[in-house]
Amino acid sequence: MIKAKKSLGQNFLIDKNILEKIINTTFIKDKMVLEIGPGTGNLTSYILKKNPKKVFVIEKDNQLAINLNNKFKNQITIINEDVLKIDETSFFKDNVTVFGNLPYNISTEILSKWIINLKDVFWFDCLVLMFQKEVADRIIAKFNTANYGRLSIICNWKLNIKKICDIKPSAFSPKPKVDSSLLIFYPKKKFINIKDPKNLEKITRIFFNQRRKMLKKPFNQLFNGNHRVLDKLKIDLTLRPQNINLETYYKLASEYENLRS
Ligand code: SAM
Repeated sequence: MIKAKKSLGQNFLIDKNILEKIINTTFIKDKMVLEIGPGTGNLTSYILKKNPKKVFVIEKDNQLAINLNNKFKNQITIINEDVLKIDETSFFKDNVTVFGNLPYNISTEILSKWIINLKDVFWFDCLVLMFQKEVADRIIAKFNTANYGRLSIICNWKLNIKKICDIKPSAFSPKPKVDSSLLIFYPKKKFINIKDPKNLEKITRIFFNQRRKMLKKPFNQLFNGNHRVLDKLKIDLTLRPQNINLETYYKLASEYENLRS
């Protein structure tokens, strides 16, 4: 019997219907698959049933990595590492389909890292990821809503995102205290060019630092009151950060780079 480690966000999926649902979100026969945090291998078994070309898993827990090796032998390649420390763009050159019932304490960090590190060519063709529902709600939030913020803006820059379903705590062992949601992410073919994604992080950080205040102060801090940018993007500085749509934020990041180059 495995004792789940809270520090590694270990809530193992045991509901067979949900495991089926996850694996049927996308077609993986003869494809490369990467699973983040396979844990006891529940989802891994379902992935293997679909006959993918090759399966990689990244698991930080040493004991779980040994158990996975005993259970699956050479059916999978185990990377016994911290996913946050891996440069996936050097590991994966082909289009990989990624699955992950992510450790909730670092789920946003993992996703933000992938987006910020994306090069011109995507290393994945689709991400099927499970989050705490509250986090998923922030990822897919539309502008003019309370959940809209940095996470929504950064995640939607290069990715189309769709919610598959919500999942109750009873689907896991041990049961988490909160509901979860399954999201699917696809690379966008067209997106506004931002040379250094860290500028998008910076802009959203400064704008959302005081989300109840008007845009005037953060705008002046970043753009020194540059009216050309205001007129071009038709921004009303009496609005609040959550009233500005996604595209305008991407254009603001791009204008910010132009002004500094
Ligand atoms: N996929 C399994 C399932 O659904 O039953 C387990 C999911 S559990 C929520 C998260 C898994 O991620 C655990 O196996 C945990 O050990 C692993 N994990 C936690 N932090 C990690 C990290 N930084 N890098 C890689 N794996 C990690």
